[in-house]
Amino acid sequence: MLDVLIAGAGPAGTIAARELARAGARVLLVDRETFPRDKLCGDTVNPGAVQFLATLGLAGGALTAARPLEGMRVTGPGASVVARYGGAPGVSISRRDLDAWLLGEAIAAGVKFEPDVTVQGALTEDAGGERRVRGLILRNATGIVTRVPALVTIGADGRRSAVARSVGLGSHPRAPRRWAFGAYYADVTGNLAGLGEMHVRPRWYCGINPLADGRVNVCVVTDRREGADDPAGLILRYLRSDPELAPRFTHAERVSPVSVLGPLAFDVATAGSPGLLLAGDAAGFVDPITGDGLNLAMQGAVLAAESASEVLQIGDWNGVIARLNQRRAAALGTKLKFNRAMRVLTSSPTGVRLAAVGARLAPAILRRIIVEAGDAA
Ligand SMILES: Cc1cc2nc3c(=O)[nH]c(=O)nc-3n(C[C@H](O)[C@H](O)[C@H](O)COP(=O)(O)OP(=O)(O)OC[C@H]3O[C@@H](n4cnc5c(N)ncnc54)[C@H](O)[C@@H]3O)c2cc1C
Repeated sequence: MLDVLIAGAGPAGTIAARELARAGARVLLVDRETFPRDKLCGDTVNPGAVQFLATLGLAGGALTAARPLEGMRVTGPGASVVARYGGAPGVSISRRDLDAWLLGEAIAAGVKFEPDVTVQGALTEDAGGERRVRGLILRNATGIVTRVPALVTIGADGRRSAVARSVGLGSHPRAPRRWAFGAYYADVTGNLAGLGEMHVRPRWYCGINPLADGRVNVCVVTDRREGADDPAGLILRYLRSDPELAPRFTHAERVSPVSVLGPLAFDVATAGSPGLLLAGDAAGFVDPITGDGLNLAMQGAVLAAESASEVLQIGDWNGVIARLNQRRAAALGTKLKFNRAMRVLTSSPTGVRLAAVGARLAPAILRRIIVEAGDAA
């Protein structure tokens, strides 16, 4: 029998898998994709995330060729603030490169990886009147369905987690309902050396992030889906509607297909149930507005791996989920609440306008918030 079966080879899944394999566990990691694969993201890894990776012994590698991210420029209606992190920078790196590197590191640590495997849901059984997760139901590329048991199951399958939903742990809230549209562009003008950008407008926002290879990551997040059947046109319409952004895209050329995700928010009340631990976005989606989803996913993955080790050592689940929730609250609670507050603020047109007035009157406060959001404080 496997010690640990993990759904999803994004940063949360690979980091949890690697930690557990290094501790001697037999780990199988599965993903519906083959790697390297693209993943819609703003491609900013904030300074706190880079430092956290270093504490796990994950420095160099794909990060070496990445563009250093020294700060952020944030704009709102009539307001613009540049905040430099100071100290060690973050990086701008495509998720194709980042995730493939992390997966390679997990495999090197002894994790067995199976691509092209779709998780249909948790394998459960009744144990003394309690529903307990005993593994996963998997479908391979040829359509064969297998039930794979494991002592511990980790759901790290992202913001629509099939694992969490199959045991009733996650759901999309009624509000805010937002969708993300992202692609890479060439020949975007006006990028500032070393900076990523977040442009917040009533009812939408846009991240702009140049990569080391010259491509520029552009993500638009909006609560409106009109025109979503032409996602490339939708991105251009938003960019061209904005007096600040429009001139910068006059000669820009899209150099990748457009990816679309949504609805974005995914709320989870508890980070697991007997037999199951959740990590990363599967344990609750982090809105892209604060650019720290990756850092929170990686930290949550290490906490889930610690809980898994605890179960493997003591052989029972008593109090394990409660302790994981406590550790998550202590380590991630403040950042998760901040992200939730930003999600609410940016979904209100009035909130965005008031925040822009605040940024004009007291830019130093916004600068401080940006540095803290980057975990560089
Ligand atoms: C538009 C947008 C922009 C963002 N920008 C940033 C940013 O710039 N910086 C930042 O720090 N964060 C950003 N985030 C947040 C960040 O992308 C997530 O927090 C992070 O990807 C979470 O990692 P994860 O490993 O939990 O999930 P994911 O990265 O989503 O990985 C989940 C994995 O599970 C696999 N999977 C899913 N379902 C199944 C299934 N049923 N069976 C098998 N495999 C499955 C997927 O293929 C995937 O490989 C952004 C998010 C969005 C939506």
